[in-house]
Amino acid sequence: MLVDSHCHLDLPDLAGHFVEVLEAMQRNDIGCAVCVGVTLEAFPNILALAEAHACILATVGVHPEMTGVREASVDELVRLAAHPKVVGIGETGLDYYWHKDAPEWQRERFRAHIRAAREAGKPIVVHNREATADTLRILEEENAGEIGGVLHCFTETWEVAQRALDIGFYISMSGVVTFRNARIVKEVARRVPLDRLLVETDSPYLAPTPFRGKRNQPAYVRHVAEEIAALREMPIEEVATATTDNFFRLFRPTESFSARN
Ligand SMILES: [Zn+2]
Repeated sequence: MLVDSHCHLDLPDLAGHFVEVLEAMQRNDIGCAVCVGVTLEAFPNILALAEAHACILATVGVHPEMTGVREASVDELVRLAAHPKVVGIGETGLDYYWHKDAPEWQRERFRAHIRAAREAGKPIVVHNREATADTLRILEEENAGEIGGVLHCFTETWEVAQRALDIGFYISMSGVVTFRNARIVKEVARRVPLDRLLVETDSPYLAPTPFRGKRNQPAYVRHVAEEIAALREMPIEEVATATTDNFFRLFRPTESFSARN
């Protein structure tokens, strides 16, 4: 069994094909997918998906890219995260690619999410794009290691991965690791300790080879795991077992999720 630790099933691209998406998950033995929240406005939809399907879990947060949406207070995040199907806080982090002026509100929003996670006792899902130094610094300053989390869709160097591992974080590989020119990401996928690795699709974005450029879906997380298995010269079953165990250790979805056994 594999777990897609990060996807956006509520987006129109996937929501319109929900039955096929779930069937493809079953066929490929993807036991669980985490539908990651990006705005409070969209959160009720995500929660409804998670409540309706045993194999879907949710997180709550406001993505660093988002402007013109409702800001999340620590208290509100903690309250929403108390739901048994909500396994983490996020998507949070920093994005200086879409916001080149590196605005202070992003760092404040990020800190609020980390504080909420610590209070809620649930891990954080971190997005970092062209903001690595500040992302790591804030994780350290806010003692995010005490609650743990994942750097999702990891595309940084091995040196950055090592610092995240030192903080106590997990590293999640997306379809990017299957891209032929992704030399640095492939190196990280080879070197991250097997007990700190997660896999994800970030669907509907970033479809892995051989579906690159097409609509991505949770079932394709198998291609991410296959690539990691090839890079590490080990059977895919071993990658599946390790990444699934890691997922359950980090997100602890035990109360709400019993499909495991
Ligand atoms: Zn995402």
